[in-house]
Amino acid sequence: MSITIVGGGAIGLATAWRAAQAGHDVTVVDPDPGRGASWAAAGMLAPVTEAHYGEEPLLALNLAASEQWPGFATELAEASGMDAGYRRCGAITVARDLDDQAALAELFAFQQGLGLAVQRMTGSEVRRVEPSLSPRVRGGVFASEDHQVDNRALVQALVRAAGRAGVTYDHRRVARIDCHGGRVRAVVTEDGHRLQGDTVIVAAGVGAAALPGVPEGVVPPLRPVKGQLLHLRGVPAACPRLGVVRGLEVYVVSRGDGRVVVGATMEERGMDTTVTAGAVMELLRAAWELLPGLAELELLEATAGLRPATPDNAPAVGPTEIEGLHLAVGHFRNGILLTPITARTVVAGLDGPLPDLMAPFSPDRFRTAAARR
Ligand SMILES: Cc1cc2nc3c(=O)[nH]c(=O)nc-3n(C[C@H](O)[C@H](O)[C@H](O)COP(=O)(O)OP(=O)(O)OC[C@H]3O[C@@H](n4cnc5c(N)ncnc54)[C@H](O)[C@@H]3O)c2cc1C
Repeated sequence: MSITIVGGGAIGLATAWRAAQAGHDVTVVDPDPGRGASWAAAGMLAPVTEAHYGEEPLLALNLAASEQWPGFATELAEASGMDAGYRRCGAITVARDLDDQAALAELFAFQQGLGLAVQRMTGSEVRRVEPSLSPRVRGGVFASEDHQVDNRALVQALVRAAGRAGVTYDHRRVARIDCHGGRVRAVVTEDGHRLQGDTVIVAAGVGAAALPGVPEGVVPPLRPVKGQLLHLRGVPAACPRLGVVRGLEVYVVSRGDGRVVVGATMEERGMDTTVTAGAVMELLRAAWELLPGLAELELLEATAGLRPATPDNAPAVGPTEIEGLHLAVGHFRNGILLTPITARTVVAGLDGPLPDLMAPFSPDRFRTAAARR
């Protein structure tokens, strides 16, 4: 099958790699592969600490995604010759004060109720696990099954692995997707070039919302949720020992080699990716309150990216009512975590039913009953 993938973020690249491995002829169209939200992200693989009230169906998918990561990371390293920095590190969420303690107690009860692997710790216990925590920290919850990957290394490895598997890159921007007669006909680039094939997979992150030519209602409404995030650097001994330390307002991801990521804001401001002084100040203040030693590190970069979010905050993955048009969009806060499982299921859904775990996340769920008739 010849497949055109619109968008080469983590989702599009991993899908391209898997599709090429399955014997398809694949082209990724993206002016700047790997530089969207997947570049801006923190790389936490956090089904447990990212479990939110009302999002229980997504939890099963996130947990299954997490289980696929060890095999995926090994296979990607072999295929690319590059290390994506997958680290089984666990994550601790800590409380600064009594209010945080109360919120954390509630969170712990919620996580326990879901049967998740979490452990409550006192202040002295958390400081034993992470000696650089402030003496003011009162306690925490440890999630042993939350891990991390270096998302920038990940997209670079995916570009390489997909290329080696035979994927072609077209560095043009897609202007529209030509659909008529209930079928996808071509992907048209800004300079008018038409890429014709059997199948088009839209994996354009927040860009998927603005692709003319696709009939209304086929791509679910997508809202960009801006995240600002900082990169720090120091000698490894000056960085947190634990891979992920979270407060209720901030998270700190320590790569283990002196690189530290501090994130992230959640802002709904359209397509704006401006880095603001206020966000930088708030992120540093919140991180410093938990880990005072961070003040000694070098501030390398402040960046912002746009999380692609659907109305129910879960992804939209699989075939659409337009023959030959598939979606892999809306991965919101967990797109890096969901990369391996999305790639596998999109490819499975090309010529068969979507695997059970992904079935609840079909794009069809956003269509009104009237549109379905
Ligand atoms: C600050 C921040 C922190 C995050 N932290 C985490 C985290 O710790 N863990 C986690 O799992 N997730 C995290 N996320 C979420 C995660 O980054 C996203 O869910 C994921 O990267 C989405 O991947 P994607 O491939 O769909 O989109 P993107 O990475 O945005 O890729 C979309 C691609 O489509 C291309 N494109 C768009 N329009 C067009 C067009 N018209 N023509 C051609 N190409 C086009 C873009 O150039 C881009 O390369 C974070 C996000 C942000 C912003």
